[in-house]
Amino acid sequence: MSRVYNFSAGPSCLPESVLKEAAEEMLDYKGSGQSVMEMSHRSKDYLPIISDAEDRVRKLMNIPDNYKVLFLQGGASTQFAMIPMNLKKLGKAAYIDTGVWSDKAIKEAKKYLTVDVIASSKDKAYSYIPSVEKIEGDYDYAYITLNNTIVGTKWANLPEVGKRSDGTDIPLVADASSCILSEPVDITKFGIFYAGAQKNLAPAGVTLVIIRKDLIPEFPMEGTPIMLMYKTHADSDSMYNTPPCYTIYIMGKVLAWIEANGGAEGMKKRNEEKAKLFYDYLDNSKFYKSPVEKNSRSLMNIPFVTCEQNEEKATALNKKFVAEAAAAGFVNLAGHRLVGGMRASMYNAMPIEGVKALIEFMDKFAKDNA
Ligand SMILES: *Cc1c(COP(=O)(O)O)cnc(C)c1O
Repeated sequence: MSRVYNFSAGPSCLPESVLKEAAEEMLDYKGSGQSVMEMSHRSKDYLPIISDAEDRVRKLMNIPDNYKVLFLQGGASTQFAMIPMNLKKLGKAAYIDTGVWSDKAIKEAKKYLTVDVIASSKDKAYSYIPSVEKIEGDYDYAYITLNNTIVGTKWANLPEVGKRSDGTDIPLVADASSCILSEPVDITKFGIFYAGAQKNLAPAGVTLVIIRKDLIPEFPMEGTPIMLMYKTHADSDSMYNTPPCYTIYIMGKVLAWIEANGGAEGMKKRNEEKAKLFYDYLDNSKFYKSPVEKNSRSLMNIPFVTCEQNEEKATALNKKFVAEAAAAGFVNLAGHRLVGGMRASMYNAMPIEGVKALIEFMDKFAKDNA
């Protein structure tokens, strides 16, 4: 059997050593005589698995004690509603629109409070991160998408968040679904830092929510379902209902792999090396180019197009590229259906060999189709 290089934006490739370990433990987890898929989430075999995953997240991200780490369900998309429902007090929040995922978060938040879109990069097809003056005003929170998976941009420097008129701090909320643990972050700059796991941490099924304890309200917005209250999950250590046990188990293994490979610093080095190789190739190519402004480029998701000007020819060329790449063992290179072109997602688990091999393929394709 040969494995492909999977450049999917999510769910995405996992470290091979993690898959092998999971395979070895599939029928009999550490002498328990059962698979982790089959265990009670409250059993003595399972409880260390979830607490180990939490410990590793805390250690890898340097999370202080005044933050809760929650393992939730409903994907990152459920956070689009949970955040306004739980953080609403004054009734207004500031959002920055950097693409499809922020736009979805904005649309959802508008159901629950007043949304001020204080900056947007929509004018240039979201190809850059807008510059933002200090965020000030009577906002319950300020919201950003840290890495924009579809258009391939990331916040190189966080926006400065100021105070409300009563002197209290506006908490910064970040969707880090496609960049969590790709490089170090200072978690104390955030009120909520959350990520769907299926890009950099695990298979689909769990959303990691890191939330400052004082932001967990006793009484969220009236009518908030029990399952959408942070307090429910914080009070029961993510065991109010059955958590996605197996996904959390795999996440623990991925976190151990990150630890063994230098932690967040190690991931940054690894990811910068891959991204530099790829961007340098695109920037020096006469056949391909990156549509993203240089100082806004993502380390994780790299969209690219050919230099073909004729739209019809370009579309046909993209289709040919994606098909031939797949046949050569480089899969999931089509751009998002909303933006077209191509996109190579290079999450933590993608080895540099995969990127080098892809560039070699691209070079040959360029020569054959010039
Ligand atoms: C994938 C993604 C989402 C959506 O995640 P789901 O878990 O499918 O809800 C949200 N935000 C960003 C930045 C993403 O990359």
